[in-house]
Amino acid sequence: MPERAAGVGLADRDRGLVWHPYAPLDGPEPYAVSAASGVRLTLTDRAGTTTEVIDAMASWWCAIHGYRHPVLDAAAHAQVDRFSHVMFGGLTHEPAVALAERLTAIAPGPMAHVFFADSGSVSVEVALKLTLQYQAAVGRPGRQRFLTVRGGYHGDTFAAMSVCDPVDGMHSAFPGALARHVFAPRPPAARLVVGGDGAERWETDESALAEWETTFRELAAAHADEIAGIIVEPVLQGAGGMYVYHPDCLRTMRSVADELGLLLVADEIATGFGRTGRLFASEWADAAPDVLCVGKALTGGYLTLAAVLTTLAVGAAVTRSEFRALLHGPTFMANPLACAVAGASLDLLETRWKDDVARVGAALATGLAPAREHPAVRDVRSLGAVFVVQLHGPVDVPAVTRAAVRRGVWVRPFRDLVYTMPPYVSSDEDVATIAAAVIGAVDEVHGS
Ligand SMILES: *Cc1c(COP(=O)(O)O)cnc(C)c1O
Repeated sequence: MPERAAGVGLADRDRGLVWHPYAPLDGPEPYAVSAASGVRLTLTDRAGTTTEVIDAMASWWCAIHGYRHPVLDAAAHAQVDRFSHVMFGGLTHEPAVALAERLTAIAPGPMAHVFFADSGSVSVEVALKLTLQYQAAVGRPGRQRFLTVRGGYHGDTFAAMSVCDPVDGMHSAFPGALARHVFAPRPPAARLVVGGDGAERWETDESALAEWETTFRELAAAHADEIAGIIVEPVLQGAGGMYVYHPDCLRTMRSVADELGLLLVADEIATGFGRTGRLFASEWADAAPDVLCVGKALTGGYLTLAAVLTTLAVGAAVTRSEFRALLHGPTFMANPLACAVAGASLDLLETRWKDDVARVGAALATGLAPAREHPAVRDVRSLGAVFVVQLHGPVDVPAVTRAAVRRGVWVRPFRDLVYTMPPYVSSDEDVATIAAAVIGAVDEVHGS
């Protein structure tokens, strides 16, 4: 085969051969990435011309430290030189144990046990199984359903899909194949206001909040005998609509779970590791879950890895149960390479996430403030280092993407949302470029 220059002709070879997320085989041509470093991707077009773009998506929440970080690269290389993978059945290794120790130490609430899964969706499957096994073990085997809220996203596998929003979550594509769960209304929107003295305060429609709480409690009580647990994305719903709600709603879920003997499953696959301005979004409500799912940024975006954490009490119940084990065991469970890089990513995170997330969030607020005045824009909202520009109608995704790339920025809008969650290491200048590109692209495509 003749040697090809990186990226040249790639989009043509890709088209019709490889499926991309939620995209038809004959869908818009993808951009070819030939290199990535720091916060930048290098795109190569069919003529071989390269363009550098800032990755305003951090590869879908993952690349928090940017690409080719020397510390993460070194951790991966060092582990490759030892061993890249071994089965986890009957064997263990330092990267997995060390990572489990780290995760239980930093998690919200007293977490005592860790199950490593190979993706976020699989970790949700495991969390749901774990919850059913727990209820069976404590003598409530009839509790087989879950309670959640509308607007959620928990992944693409079948059980995960079944707890996604019933309208926007692909339910209509698989009628009859999905378990039927109990959906409460979406909690009312809220926003975090930071006063001049730095004090943080949540604002929301108080009467809507009270009404939501009543509805949620009534719904839970009506289904108490058949529901095993509550699954939710704490405070920030991601792929279901980039939506922020009041931490009081999470506190309500915690207290309902306690009253009715349900497990509270926090899906922090998107919100974990500092993105919302707390290390875990559950901390905004001081509502520790019984089961916690993490993924996405866990390895700093290097490799696929997720984890399910749970408490002593839940672990003890599973051990007492008929099967004694948690009934799951993927081939690539606790992949040593992924665990080693995750450990290094947590080292990096520890030293600087708080300052970086606050700095990136503040720079986004400054840069995106003018978007509020734009006639095409319906709402601008944010939490931590996440910023969302919601339009009045659907985004022309290919056109906005192209317009942003021309301005040196990679974004991937969906529905009526153009949003960004940049790597934590983005400089103020990078963030200003992102904000200008988002506003410029929206104006160019949806301006009049
Ligand atoms: C991305 C995501 C998932 C699914 O994770 P995958 O690794 O894509 O399977 C689940 N829950 C939330 C909240 C997510 O953002």
